[in-house]
Amino acid sequence: MPTVPRLHVDQPLTAATPIAGSAAQAHHLGSVLRRSVGDEICLFNSRDGEWRAHIAALRRDRVTFALDAQTRPPALEDDLWLLFALLKRDTTDLVIEKATELGASVLQPVITDRTNAARVNDARLRTIATEAAEQSERLTIPDIRPPRPLPDLLESWPTNRPLFVAVERANAAPIIHSTEPCALLVGPEGGFTLQELDAFRCYPFVAAVTLGPRILRAETACLVGLTLLRLGGSR
Ligand code: SAH
Repeated sequence: MPTVPRLHVDQPLTAATPIAGSAAQAHHLGSVLRRSVGDEICLFNSRDGEWRAHIAALRRDRVTFALDAQTRPPALEDDLWLLFALLKRDTTDLVIEKATELGASVLQPVITDRTNAARVNDARLRTIATEAAEQSERLTIPDIRPPRPLPDLLESWPTNRPLFVAVERANAAPIIHSTEPCALLVGPEGGFTLQELDAFRCYPFVAAVTLGPRILRAETACLVGLTLLRLGGSR
């Protein structure tokens, strides 16, 4: 049996109203997945949870769904922020996709002293995150924030949220499992500068953490850090 496509839709999911999908969804369902009217589909969003539905009408660039029954009520998901020094385009894409699979709720690109890129393509990153949320059975799409300079972020930080900063070769404590709202910050390929490392010491909500004895690429550090924070065991 073919797998049931799982799609995120912004509109309210209420049983009485047909739901209009996007042109991209119509194309994907019709031309790529070769689905047709009557085929089962799964729809979700953070407000209304997940619903079993079917295709009510399908043309090349238009699709409508009819809802059948709710399969998951809306629920709170992880409160886990990932802040990462902005990477090259392909690597940023990878971090967005994998961090979504690993449950990050906020993705915050950061501009640091050694960051080269300063811009992102919001729509593209949102598409990547949406597809990763569809695939990984999340109910929410992570909030992808516009890039911000590191000093701004530190100055306006919600001080009750611990910020775990991944620092290599620093004799820092190992990162450990936490179920509390928290955030992980990973630096750029060139690492943080001494000034940045000094600045971290001024903020009581910052805790430096190590991800082990090897020097990881920034994207690896993001994924390992998220994994250990949320899925790892405690000491
Ligand atoms: N070029 C630097 C390494 C930077 S690695 C050097 O050779 O010294 C990129 C980022 O990944 C770092 O800023 C840090 O946030 C994270 N990172 C990599 N390995 C790590 C480790 N073992 N522990 C903690 N953080 C690490």
